[in-house]
Amino acid sequence: MANSYTHFSEELELKNEEEVKWMKERFAERRRSFEGAHGAVTLLEGEEAEALSCCESMADFEIDFSGNLVTFFAEESGNLDDVASLVQEYLQKFDLARCWAIAEAHGCSKPRAGEFGGAACFVTADGIRWMSTSGWVHVQATAWNTCKSCRGPRTDHAPGGKCLFEPTTFVKSDPDE
Ligand SMILES: [Zn+2]
Repeated sequence: MANSYTHFSEELELKNEEEVKWMKERFAERRRSFEGAHGAVTLLEGEEAEALSCCESMADFEIDFSGNLVTFFAEESGNLDDVASLVQEYLQKFDLARCWAIAEAHGCSKPRAGEFGGAACFVTADGIRWMSTSGWVHVQATAWNTCKSCRGPRTDHAPGGKCLFEPTTFVKSDPDE
């Protein structure tokens, strides 16, 4: 049997004891929501379980404090969405001008095809931006498979990829020509 993993670990420097206290309390609240939902989800099925698991802010990850330094991490599995939304809450409350980022690695105990990759998110008080390795590959493949001349799929073209269609964006710029 093969196990899939999600690993991440990133630090956030807090400024004072008040912020550390807030972070500890907020994490504990989210952790209780997560554990409550996690327990209930195993008793529910399908849409009910899904609705319960995404309706509250949770903490499906671990946390460690060292003075004012907080580390968010997952050793086997975790949810980066939860980390990002907690840090966003922090920035909204204490530090509107700051940005923060974290990345995660996806892996597997066996070399199973398609089980490896990663993602990153960029967090500010205003928003959370995501990228993933699979998303990047999808963008490259879509660009490659689109003909630059006719904008149609290259699979419609002759073997070798030569474009047989008229370019659709060609406009004569010189009226005297
Ligand atoms: Zn073409």
